[in-house]
Amino acid sequence: MKILVVNAGSSSLKYQLIDMDNKSVLAKGLCERIGIDGSNLQHTCVVKGLDKIKIENPMKDHGDAIKMVIDALIDTEHGAISSMDEIGAVGHRVVHGAEEFTDSTIITEAVLKQLEKCTPLAPLHNPPNIIGIEACKKIMPNTPMVAVFDTAFHQTMPPEAFMYALPYEYYEKDRIRKYGFHGTSHKYVSQQAVKILGKPAEELKIVTCHLGNGSSITAVKGGKCIDTSMGFTPLDGVPMGTRTGSMDPAVMTFLMNKGMTAQEIDDLVNKKSGVAGVSGVSSDFRDLDDAVLEGNERAKLALDMFVYQVRKYIGAYAAAMGGIDALVFTAGIGENNGPMRKDIVSGLEYMGIAIDDEKNLTRGTVDVSAADARVKTLVIPTDEEMMIAIDTQRLVEG
Ligand code: ADP
Repeated sequence: MKILVVNAGSSSLKYQLIDMDNKSVLAKGLCERIGIDGSNLQHTCVVKGLDKIKIENPMKDHGDAIKMVIDALIDTEHGAISSMDEIGAVGHRVVHGAEEFTDSTIITEAVLKQLEKCTPLAPLHNPPNIIGIEACKKIMPNTPMVAVFDTAFHQTMPPEAFMYALPYEYYEKDRIRKYGFHGTSHKYVSQQAVKILGKPAEELKIVTCHLGNGSSITAVKGGKCIDTSMGFTPLDGVPMGTRTGSMDPAVMTFLMNKGMTAQEIDDLVNKKSGVAGVSGVSSDFRDLDDAVLEGNERAKLALDMFVYQVRKYIGAYAAAMGGIDALVFTAGIGENNGPMRKDIVSGLEYMGIAIDDEKNLTRGTVDVSAADARVKTLVIPTDEEMMIAIDTQRLVEG
């Protein structure tokens, strides 16, 4: 079966066409600036080994974008299939499934209605996801569609982990609780880790660290998420590129009392903080590494803060699970920054975690554990599109 994976943002649409028979990417690309001047499609036909092409063409909405994607996919030169009918199903990334969705789901009219109910919890992200679904349904009315949620994997958290200690009615009326994000990535890498470890998922306690522009840590016990570091929104947890991560919430009211508006504070904590805010250098960890080499103290402080908080979560989640069998690193930083992985686990030898310097230089999926480590430390490149395709196939084939 060939599956089209769609990730629709407010003015962009990313896609991958995946052949599930051999789990290979046939084509991929991105529509940018949908609905604004300079709309363009960047498309790569992977299966023919062709270079990326860029087509500038007005796209007034996501419907136009999907049409362009299909045209590119069936193009005689740059296409990967001969007709749209070859697409067996479409898997859509949806950011927020709230408590409504504990797993990926086949999209029906009833599901679309339920999705609308989740929108207040992700007002910036869910609406474009829904528009993407509607646009695809119009063009491919007979193709099954599946929604895969960033939050669904975390729905197995027990109440003691997901509740906030607000008066209970704030949970009941406003649905304020921890939801967690990056679920598709945590699910994918934890399942890959189970395969590598060669034991039943039920017997394993795994901590997965998705460290990128946004970072989150998840405790996976018996194949299920029991806790995760992001919360009601993706602001919670460890410091990130431009996000604060956890801090005393009273800082917000303190700033409000000083005259800042809710919008200004939202901007401050989401877009101007994190390692960028502390260092004053950049949100990109590579820039920070360069700055540290030049002796920049605040860049060093920002990185130290990040490393410290990630390490703390690993310890906390080992405590929450009653042990740890494997630690997994993924995403931009987790996959590529070996020295940072080493820093994060330093001092965790007492828990049986240690990294081998030589193995830590290797790229790709790799076991970087020291020979005498009780806990496996694995680097596993994440693949959210593949996870979406796997779930889509599972649901469509029943
Ligand atoms: P996003 O959350 O936007 O998907 P990524 O997972 O791509 O982000 O992570 C971005 C971060 O990963 C940046 O801070 C960047 O410095 C880091 N990163 C990406 N590639 C490398 C690399 N080859 N070496 C070191 N760091 C990298």
